[in-house]
Amino acid sequence: MILKAAQELSRSLPLMSRGLALVWRAARLWTVAWGVLIVAQGLLPAILVHLTRTAVNHLADALAAPDTLTAFAVAWPSLAGIAALLIAGQLLASLVAWVRGVQAELVQDHIKELIHAHALRLDLAFFEEPDSYDLLYRASVDAINRPVILLENLGTFLQNALTLAALALLLAAYAPWLPLLLVGSALPGLWIVARFILREVAWRRANTGNERRLRYYDWMMTEKESAAEMRIFALGDHHRGAYAQLRTELRAWRLKLAASELRAELAAGAISWAGALAGMLWMLKRAANGLAKLGDLVLCYQAFQQGQALLRALLESSGQIYRSVLFLDNLFQFLETAPQLEDPPRPQPPPTLLRQGVRFEGVSFRYPGRGRDALHDFSLDLPAGRTIAIVGPNGAGKSTLIKLLCRFYDPQQGRILIDGIDVRQMAQADLWRLITVLFQEPVNYHASAADNIAMGDLTADADRIAAAARASGADGCIARLPNGFDTVLGQWFGGAELSVGEWQRLALARAFLRDAPILILDEPTSAMDSWAEADWLKRFSELTVGRTALMITHRFTTAMHADIVHVMRAGRIVESGTHAELVAAEGLYAESWREQMREMGGAAGE
Ligand code: ATP
Repeated sequence: MILKAAQELSRSLPLMSRGLALVWRAARLWTVAWGVLIVAQGLLPAILVHLTRTAVNHLADALAAPDTLTAFAVAWPSLAGIAALLIAGQLLASLVAWVRGVQAELVQDHIKELIHAHALRLDLAFFEEPDSYDLLYRASVDAINRPVILLENLGTFLQNALTLAALALLLAAYAPWLPLLLVGSALPGLWIVARFILREVAWRRANTGNERRLRYYDWMMTEKESAAEMRIFALGDHHRGAYAQLRTELRAWRLKLAASELRAELAAGAISWAGALAGMLWMLKRAANGLAKLGDLVLCYQAFQQGQALLRALLESSGQIYRSVLFLDNLFQFLETAPQLEDPPRPQPPPTLLRQGVRFEGVSFRYPGRGRDALHDFSLDLPAGRTIAIVGPNGAGKSTLIKLLCRFYDPQQGRILIDGIDVRQMAQADLWRLITVLFQEPVNYHASAADNIAMGDLTADADRIAAAARASGADGCIARLPNGFDTVLGQWFGGAELSVGEWQRLALARAFLRDAPILILDEPTSAMDSWAEADWLKRFSELTVGRTALMITHRFTTAMHADIVHVMRAGRIVESGTHAELVAAEGLYAESWREQMREMGGAAGE
């Protein structure tokens, strides 16, 4: 146990100094002011105890003196001093609270800024790992207040330690072993606090998964995304039950820990009070022998009584400091997570106009932790200025293509070239400027309709935004909104809600707005009705003029408008050609095409 505590301590100290460095960087002057105030607060109680002794002795002498009034006059200065110190104590407490408040604001903003900047630097792969999500959550939710709590507890610790040292000095004037008795009687308490914190920490580490699961159940019952299914499938009770069961298990352990902590604390408290009693008895004996006065008895009582409380507070704050340090560990772990895909040291300039196009050359890629390649020895040409469609069953690897082209991941084998330049040789920001994408699940920005489109290019003016809306067919639904382009959308800020298809058209407009030579559309018509699809496809060739377009779709009625269609299956291209060629080839494409046509014919006939 001592070895474990020492290990934990050696791990915690560097974290603590990093936490304090964080506070220092965020609020230097405020931290200096805080330090000065803490020292003043720490010395105040001992000076007060000292003055109380003097005042009590003077008062006792005055009561015994023949001329009480004159003798009382001697006690006035110490009594006035006590009053001044009490007022100063109040003032200091208010000042410290104010300084801490300012520090807290500054430190929290500083940490949020660090988290935001770092989260935006990380690769997409980071956000797909459940552990990273957990780390990010804990760093941004739990750790954000921790440096301030650490500082607060450190302040309490320093202040109490100072007061205790000053009180110990006062006691040492009577006998050197008196302060030792005070501290020694508190040692069992220290041991208990350390032991319980270690147990709690071990438990929390072991139960992170369960805590995450609790958050998941909680989320399912309270979020909009799941609200409809919870009701229609009557899943509320199922989730409430699962939540309650897990909470019961976790709570039972906590309550058990709290009960045994209480028993151990009571025992430790009894030992420390026995120490105080021994000290007081010794002083009483001295008083009986005429070696101590009433003031000394009061001092001894106050020193022991306050000393015990201080030691207890010291233990509490050391526990809190330790807890804060552990939470800070999450923050630092997150900030230390390096992006895996870095820019090359000397990036190649990107092409301004695409002349050759995009080429996948023998690309094999496997997602981290997966046992199978999502793409295997995959080659594909996207000639400049042409529109290529990729069709294929679910899980064939179509969206993975996009992720690789955007360099959200690097393939394990092969390369991806844009006009002959490997995407790994370009700066990521340059690469992303070449590409505009309609993702399979685009973001619905809770902002105005115009801003939803403008997110594709924040420098665009109203005319370009309106043109992009026309190109995607979003203009019709925007015209029906109460304030047209200025209508706020989404429910976060009380805006208008759109249908899935309408949101998709806005996202399409966003993709069109961006003036990039490579246009990628992942399921652009999946949420469009067939009339809208037909109308949109009529204009599609105009929209792709001068661009190299890659379109992923399940609808063959969309794919047939491409210059070349590739059929993908299990990470490979299995058929290629124009729509007419593929239908004539009587292969997979032709089979699926006929099936889709039969279904549509059937539906039309019904
Ligand atoms: P769909 O038509 O359903 O959109 P798709 O052809 O776009 O499918 P991909 O999303 O590229 O398919 O997925 C290809 C394979 O890679 C699938 O087996 C999928 O399970 C796996 N996969 C996709 N994304 C990830 C990921 N982030 N981590 C691990 N595996 C993934």
